[in-house]
Amino acid sequence: MRTHDYLLVGGGIVGACLAEELARTGASVLVLDAGPAPGHATRQAAGVAVPSLRYLGRPALYDWLCAGRDRLEHDIARLEPGHGAFSVARPIVRALKPADADAHAERLDRLPATRWAALPELASLAPGLKLPEERRYLLDPRGLMIDGGRYLEAVHRSCLSAGVDWRQDTEVRDLTESPEGVTAGTPRGTFAADRAVLTAGAWAGGRLAPGLPVRPLRGQLVVLDTPAELPLIFSSALYLAPGIGGGVIVGATEEDAGFDERCTAGGIAGLLRFAASAAPALASAAPRELRAGLRPATTTGTPLIGRIPGRDRTYVAAGHAGHGLLSARLTAEGLAGALTADRWDPIPEEFCPSVTLTAGGTR
Ligand SMILES: Cc1cc2nc3c(=O)[nH]c(=O)nc-3n(C[C@H](O)[C@H](O)[C@H](O)COP(=O)(O)OP(=O)(O)OC[C@H]3O[C@@H](n4cnc5c(N)ncnc54)[C@H](O)[C@@H]3O)c2cc1C
Repeated sequence: MRTHDYLLVGGGIVGACLAEELARTGASVLVLDAGPAPGHATRQAAGVAVPSLRYLGRPALYDWLCAGRDRLEHDIARLEPGHGAFSVARPIVRALKPADADAHAERLDRLPATRWAALPELASLAPGLKLPEERRYLLDPRGLMIDGGRYLEAVHRSCLSAGVDWRQDTEVRDLTESPEGVTAGTPRGTFAADRAVLTAGAWAGGRLAPGLPVRPLRGQLVVLDTPAELPLIFSSALYLAPGIGGGVIVGATEEDAGFDERCTAGGIAGLLRFAASAAPALASAAPRELRAGLRPATTTGTPLIGRIPGRDRTYVAAGHAGHGLLSARLTAEGLAGALTADRWDPIPEEFCPSVTLTAGGTR
């Protein structure tokens, strides 16, 4: 049986970016993915690639997401020329309740390139939006949308060019460690490697690593057909965003529904109500696509990146909730550096499961 240096369980955007980074160091990498095509949440995502203001109260996470955005831009410049467009730049307007704006005033005022905007200016930027007067509006000209499926296709092709051994329809059912390495049991046989990384998205906390606090958080969204492209991203409790292939994306619900990946009448109805109230013309738009996917969320509220407690050779990179497209490349660069050169500093310590989930634990 051939033994690889690294075995990655799951080929979504996090697994794909990590496989590419590890292969670049000269390591042999095997990706085993359960589905017929790479990725799950990655292909369902809306693709707003801007750090969410909901993380402003957690500076380590917010700053890390800003760094993730820089690394994503680097990926766009590197991959788009050879692989086709998967991103579009549009300004983002964020509606805040005055109490939230006041609570974070100091940090909001220091956000680079971002400023408060008045209703008349916004009305001329996006005439179709109906903006409530009681909200305050932040305008950031550097909004960005990513098509997760196309981004993943580009990284996947780059992995294959770099020599990554990538297998679809190969669900890992058990993962065992011995002093010699790790062994993965699948319906297509047994695979061995020196070390393994769980990059299985919402499934990372299941039977492969019992007790790892990763859970599915369902998101539903609707794509509406529109004659004209939305000129900006509008983010409130929900959001309207331009789709890369046209249309307007209305997203997204956040629901604890276990591993049920179906759209529901209630979820879609709520999104459509929001769309019609934020941009009344959308009430006559036809739904082009309904999507639902399982975000990998964690009870710690941060991604988990590092060694799994109680294991010597098994690591995890999962739990990127609603910001996995934004932060996959940064995650991959950090973990590849940690695994191959023992450089852990770029990964915030609070993301490391062997530190946060174990009293007195080390990386
Ligand atoms: C509706 C919605 C909207 C979103 N909007 C945004 C957004 O605007 N911006 C943003 O940055 N992020 C967004 N996200 C989040 C983003 O999609 C995720 O954080 C990211 O895709 C997670 O990537 P991943 O590789 O960890 O997981 P996934 O893409 O889910 O990939 C996991 C892979 O693991 C495989 N797998 C699972 N179990 C096994 C096993 N036992 N053996 C082998 N393979 C296995 C699966 O087949 C899958 O291919 C959104 C998500 C949803 C659902």
